[in-house]
Amino acid sequence: MPGKLENQVAIVTGGNSGIGKATALLFASEGAKVGLMARREKEGIDVENAIKSDGGEALFVSCDVGNRQQVDDAVGKVVSAYGGLDILFNNAGGGDRGNFPDETDEGWERVISVNLTGTFYMSRAVWPHMVKGGGGRIVNNSSVAAQRGFSKKMYDLVGRGPSASYYAAKAGVDAFTRYAAGMGGQHNIRVNGVRPGQIITPLTDVGGGHHSFEAMFDMIQILDGPGYAEDVANVVLFLVTDESRFITGEIINVDGGMPGKL
Ligand code: NAP
Repeated sequence: MPGKLENQVAIVTGGNSGIGKATALLFASEGAKVGLMARREKEGIDVENAIKSDGGEALFVSCDVGNRQQVDDAVGKVVSAYGGLDILFNNAGGGDRGNFPDETDEGWERVISVNLTGTFYMSRAVWPHMVKGGGGRIVNNSSVAAQRGFSKKMYDLVGRGPSASYYAAKAGVDAFTRYAAGMGGQHNIRVNGVRPGQIITPLTDVGGGHHSFEAMFDMIQILDGPGYAEDVANVVLFLVTDESRFITGEIINVDGGMPGKL
């Protein structure tokens, strides 16, 4: 049976680790040719080789998504190699350590750069190729941080929260997702997002299957956690196939259910 992404070209940022790696492997297993972008080369080449040894097609291009020139060059390389572009998963991201008001200027700039500016640069770079190809699908990786804060009790449990920059950047990703979906309508480009919650990845794994914010998440999560990178990858796959053809401008939480506004 042909894969769901046969003859499709996809780019996954942060494709050398965690949620991005799981999604790149899933896309490739469904027949997509996958461009992987991140900064660490060895980890990127490892994923490229894993896909190739399974009979798939992949190309790792080292790239800082917050650097416009590197983004434009990297997208150009993938388009030249595969002759077009259909799918973008803006997944590269991460937070800072400092609790407000102690976060540094550098931390703020770095977090806004990778999560928000990177999403804008990448989307802008792929857009003309999608228009030329008759359409496309973009999925942006946000976070439950875009929607919620935390109570004193939650803060006491964990001792820290994600940085202010991370909350602001991910809320910006949500707004950009809705904006870009509106702009994409006339070009058959659908733009959606995912908001992961407690997902075990190299970013959050503190050992033994525990997430760095487990105590905080467990207070508000309906389903037993944690979630895994594949839980997010499966939703991203849905959002880039025709199974979601009538969905755009939506952001789906992959968080075990968090009904309360905290
Ligand atoms: P991860 O394994 O640490 O992956 C982060 C990825 O981003 C890495 O591949 C990293 O590669 C890449 N990256 C970071 N800065 C970059 C830059 N400037 N340019 C290009 N690539 C960059 O963590 P993850 O949990 O899978 O995170 C993936 C996404 O999920 C992030 O956007 C994160 O905010 C979001 N998220 C995760 C959780 C969770 O619980 N895990 C919850 C909510 C949201 P390099 O370092 O090699 O560049």
